[in-house]
Amino acid sequence: MGFRDLFNERREQVRGIRPDLRIELGIGDSAEFPANRDYAYCAWDGEKARIVFAPKIRQADRSRQDALIRHELAHALLTSADLPHSERECDAVAEAIFGDLIYYDDDDVQTLVGGSRPRPPYLPNPSE
Ligand SMILES: [Zn+2]
Repeated sequence: MGFRDLFNERREQVRGIRPDLRIELGIGDSAEFPANRDYAYCAWDGEKARIVFAPKIRQADRSRQDALIRHELAHALLTSADLPHSERECDAVAEAIFGDLIYYDDDDVQTLVGGSRPRPPYLPNPSE
């Protein structure tokens, strides 16, 4: 299964909870993701969420792709419901919805296997 199919499958799971929520998938320009660990962000315009991934997501392993997708979908759910939240809270929601724990690997990127949790305290905590 490719990245886009994986995203669509996870988005369908979110639709089971919030059928009304519109979520678009985008692949951004690599210049938008300057840091090694920058892979994605979620933007909310008041009507729909747009989750944008770095082009390098296509080369990421499945576990990293899936954890990032889950994390960004949790942002979409929370932000669209006007619920301010921390990055750790976002991971907690993703864990509750999808049923697996979210870890952080040696690159400080989300993953579903190995690594550490919760999110390391030295990482930035914007709603991204
Ligand atoms: Zn985030």
